[in-house]
Amino acid sequence: MTPTINSDRLWQSIMALAEIGAIPGNGSCRMALTPEDTAARSLFLGWCRDLGLAHQQDAIGNQYLRRAGTDPSAKAVAFGSHLDTVPTGGRFDGIIGVLAGLEVLRALAEAGVRTKAPLELVNWMNEEGSRFRPAMMGSRVAAGAFSLADALAITDDNGVSVAQALAESGQAGPLPPAPRDWSAWLELHIEQGPVMEATGADIGIVVGTMHARYFQLSVIGEPSHVGPTEMNRRHDSLAAAAEVILAVEKIALAAEPNGRASATWIENIPNARGNVSHLTHLHCDVRHNDAPAAVAMEGELRAALAAIEKRRGVRIDVDPYATFGPIAFDPRLGALLRQKAEARQLATRDMIAAAGHDSVLMAPLFPSAMLFVPSVGGITHNPKEYSTPEQVARGAQVLLDAVLELAG
Ligand SMILES: [Zn+2]
Repeated sequence: MTPTINSDRLWQSIMALAEIGAIPGNGSCRMALTPEDTAARSLFLGWCRDLGLAHQQDAIGNQYLRRAGTDPSAKAVAFGSHLDTVPTGGRFDGIIGVLAGLEVLRALAEAGVRTKAPLELVNWMNEEGSRFRPAMMGSRVAAGAFSLADALAITDDNGVSVAQALAESGQAGPLPPAPRDWSAWLELHIEQGPVMEATGADIGIVVGTMHARYFQLSVIGEPSHVGPTEMNRRHDSLAAAAEVILAVEKIALAAEPNGRASATWIENIPNARGNVSHLTHLHCDVRHNDAPAAVAMEGELRAALAAIEKRRGVRIDVDPYATFGPIAFDPRLGALLRQKAEARQLATRDMIAAAGHDSVLMAPLFPSAMLFVPSVGGITHNPKEYSTPEQVARGAQVLLDAVLELAG
């Protein structure tokens, strides 16, 4: 019996998971290590246990589910993604990568197929980075790109540390985070953009990623009274931050179509109605398909900051706290995914990922590849995020076909 994806079963699992942390408009809010994320992890783990998968969890909360192969000496073929969401999350970003992986294992069990190599399904902790920065935290720590101690000390906006959140949610496992013994890593994800829909592609073969550079900016001015202080004597950090936000946008507009940039987060001090603000923190990033172009965007940002400092008599400290990419994914795995998609009469298109993904951290360690399915309207990080049951099932089937070939 040829293993085949059960589209209904996969869709029902996606919809059942979406009920946890459901928000109006068909979205989900399950930020990392919140009670909602923890409940989703438990539901997922229950499904894995029903399938007889062996469960391991590491100290940063990554979940590894293993199906044994017939050859004990063979390295595992691994796949998965993440179940956490942004505050205005949809039902698909990350989730389909984990639940399609589960459906791959369910289909194999149903067909009575045992692969030569073991298979490992992964749910990475805190991919989104909405609550604890940086994003891709679990995979970053497992890859050795960020130390466990540094990650555990990171706090959210309420001062809760990752260590505390892991302890309170019961998600800290006994395994030391480390690269696993894998022969290949695959991740199915939604495109999160409009290109596949516009071009009629069923399966996106992700050949690489943009290069992104992340910054925390601290605008330091001087506190004063909103009334008596003359305008020319003010050093207003919030007004300066407003200029920074627009400068970031302008840099991206000039770098179209392959450059992007946005300021996303702001903290204003003292944030009091009678006060001219004296300290404003911002987060922003610049990214581009071409790495030197992203570095040039950072140069433009720094020049814009220097001009704002001078004009307004403020200081702007720049903390370049993280980068990702550019990553070139494994061309052989990309070719395998393309071949499996074409064998099922699916239209493929080579893509560059504009968003960060856990696969970015796996690519230097293992032959790695990603495949995309279309996002209706290109909408993402939004409750309206949607892919059809057929689109998701096609991606899962190509994943299954590729896993079968790799695992023997
Ligand atoms: Zn994602």
